[in-house]
Amino acid sequence: MSNTVIKVSEGIIREMEKHYSNSLLEKTPPGAIFTAKMKGCKITAYRSGKVMFQGNLHSEEAKKWGKPDTNNKTTIRKSSGLPLPDKISSMSIIGSDEVGTGDYFGPITVVSAYVKKEQIPLLQELGVKDSKDLSDQQIVKIAKDLLHVVSYSLLTLHNEKYNQLQESGMTQGKIKAILHNQALNHLLKKIAPETPEAILIDQFVEADTYYRHLKGQKEICQRNVYFSTKGESVHISVAAASIIARYAFIKAFDQLSVEAGYTLPKGAGHQVDQAAAKLIKQKGQSALYHFAKVHFANTGKAMRLL
Ligand code: MN
Repeated sequence: MSNTVIKVSEGIIREMEKHYSNSLLEKTPPGAIFTAKMKGCKITAYRSGKVMFQGNLHSEEAKKWGKPDTNNKTTIRKSSGLPLPDKISSMSIIGSDEVGTGDYFGPITVVSAYVKKEQIPLLQELGVKDSKDLSDQQIVKIAKDLLHVVSYSLLTLHNEKYNQLQESGMTQGKIKAILHNQALNHLLKKIAPETPEAILIDQFVEADTYYRHLKGQKEICQRNVYFSTKGESVHISVAAASIIARYAFIKAFDQLSVEAGYTLPKGAGHQVDQAAAKLIKQKGQSALYHFAKVHFANTGKAMRLL
C-alpha cells in the first residue's frame, strides 16, 4: 500500500493545516481543503474529513494524526490518483469507456457520455447497466433510446488506422488514452457552457501512465478527471458510454461480416483463428489489415492452420 487514509475532525484538519503551513501547495484537487508536500510525504485533506498520506513516509506521518481508516481502503485502491468524491453516483458526470480492444476482428470504439443527475432515473428505466451483462440484441435496443437522451462523443478507430499506429510502435494503452482524451474534449465542447461535476474514465491503466501516454497532445483533459475500475458500477454514465460504444462496435462488426461474406466471430479464440484462415485463403493476407488487429496472436495461428 502506497498511501494511508485517516478520518479526522474539522478541528484536527485546521490544526494540520497550521502544522504543515510551510509546505502547503497552491493547487489542490477538487474537494480538498489543503495539500502539503514535504520530503517523503504528500498530504491531502478533504472536506469529507478524509486525509490521504502518500509517499515513502505515508504511514509514519499519518500515525501522528490518527489511525488508518480501513473503510476507505477499497475506494482508494479502486481509483488511482484522486479518491472518488463521496456522492459521485448521484452527480452529473461524463463517463468514458471503450469496446473492441480484446476482439481480433472489428474496430475499437470509445465513447464519452454526459449523464445529468436528473437523467439517472430515466436511464435506469431504459435498462442501462454494464454492457457485459447485456446481449447484443438488448444493447441495440437500449442504445437506440439512449442516443436521443444523452450527449455523447463517439470515436471509431478502424483497423487500417489501428494497425498503422500499432506498427509505428504505439501501444494499445497509448492508443486508448489518446482516444479517451479526444472523446472527452469533443464532448466538453459539445455541452459547453454546461460543465459536468466530474469526469469518470473506466480505468484501464494507472492515472500516471494515462497522462504519460498523453504527453505531446494539444489538449489534455485533466480537470476533475477520476479513474475507477468497474466504472459502470460507480456511475451510470460509464454504463451508458459502454452501451453506445458496444452498439457502434456491433454495427461496424456486422458491416465487416457482410464484407467477409460470412459471420465473423467476436473475441480472440479458436473460432477466430479459423475465420481468419478462411479470410486469408479467400482474400489474401493483406485483407486482414481491413478486418483485424493484425498484431494479435490469432494472425500467426491462422497462418499455421493454412
Ligand atoms: Mn472499460
